[in-house]
Amino acid sequence: MTCEVKTKEDKDRNIKKLCIILGSLVIVIALGFFIAEQVINSVADAREKAEIKARNEKLQTELITKAEKLYKGYYYDEALALLNENIKLESKDDDRIKAEIAKIENAKSSLVKYEGSVEHVFFHSLIIYPELAFDDKGHPAEGYNMWMTTVSEFKKMLPELLKRGYVLYKLSDYIEMDSQNKIKLKDIYLPPGKIPLVISVDDVNYYEYMKLDGFAEKLVLDDKGRVSTQVVTPGGETKITRDGDVIPILDDYVAKHPEFSWRGAKGTIALTGYEGALGYRITDNLPSEKEDQQMVKKIADKMKENGWLFACHSYTHNGYFRTGKVTMAQMRSDIDEWKQKIEPWVGKTNIYISPFGYCLNNNDPRYRYIIESGFNIFCNVGNERKIIVNSDNIIMPRVNLDGFTMTNRKEEVNQHYFNVDDVIDTSRPLINDKLN
Ligand SMILES: [Zn+2]
Repeated sequence: MTCEVKTKEDKDRNIKKLCIILGSLVIVIALGFFIAEQVINSVADAREKAEIKARNEKLQTELITKAEKLYKGYYYDEALALLNENIKLESKDDDRIKAEIAKIENAKSSLVKYEGSVEHVFFHSLIIYPELAFDDKGHPAEGYNMWMTTVSEFKKMLPELLKRGYVLYKLSDYIEMDSQNKIKLKDIYLPPGKIPLVISVDDVNYYEYMKLDGFAEKLVLDDKGRVSTQVVTPGGETKITRDGDVIPILDDYVAKHPEFSWRGAKGTIALTGYEGALGYRITDNLPSEKEDQQMVKKIADKMKENGWLFACHSYTHNGYFRTGKVTMAQMRSDIDEWKQKIEPWVGKTNIYISPFGYCLNNNDPRYRYIIESGFNIFCNVGNERKIIVNSDNIIMPRVNLDGFTMTNRKEEVNQHYFNVDDVIDTSRPLINDKLN
């Protein structure tokens, strides 16, 4: 009996113990789950914070990279606007952005008015294959040797010009109107030590006589929509290239070195019209020309979007401009024809780049006809490096950077632009013998 009672008591005690143990176990497990959840949550929290931080840092880096590109191309206000906008959105961790803003504001306030010489250099379409240009088959080699520049020379000039402090500047930005509606030179502000440079390219028409002489055939839009060159190799293969003339070479150079261009400025293209423009024969009023006319317009629009300007280089490029014997009637029909047949495709322009670099007196009726036709920037050829300001037009001299100048005015080129010996193409014929 006693034994039985004991057993029952024991049983009860054991059940109680078991209950306590089970209860404790449940509490421990629950606690474990609770702690585990807390740990998981805090780990997730930390990971989320780290992810947000990394994302912000990545965004900031991207933003600074974008702002830095704008800053290098002298788009100070645009770079500041971009950064300031971001500071409003992301107020934390913005030390790097603040430093970038301070740097750009400092650069903007350090700009100085440029007071030095006026630098305008020009080229013709570049020689891609000297072996074809200088072979004296087709067009005589001597003319090419004197008045043309090779692709290899042009590519070597650009870094040298950049090193000397040159920065491309838009020709149309040299002038403005005063309160009396008279023309005046616009102040140019650049970082200290920088020199504004205008580049122009004459006769980007790809004339018939140049075929088979190692030049590009025409400008085209490539599969990425970029203005490129169509070239026929010495082996007879037709290719689309990025270095067949000044335009794609300069576009690519500025993309890589935005500090070589003031706010996206490139060069000015001087077009005649008697064999069309940019390699397209578009001036005979034939229905078959329609497609090419639209193509010239597309290419010109793309170029203008990328900082290029167009200029009238006369319609005929006739010899009577060189001799000064051009009559009033000839001047009138020349200008009118350019405006009728070329302007519709490349757009209105106020720049006239004279063929053969001729210049006329400001009061000469033939000169007045040019000015009154809407051209108030007149560019001749000369190395005065000064602009003449008339009441309704300016005359800006240009220096040809070609075989003639590199050979006969070597010291001047060395002094102003680059060391000739480092640049000049060794495949040129002996120019000294012919020119001196
Ligand atoms: Zn010309």
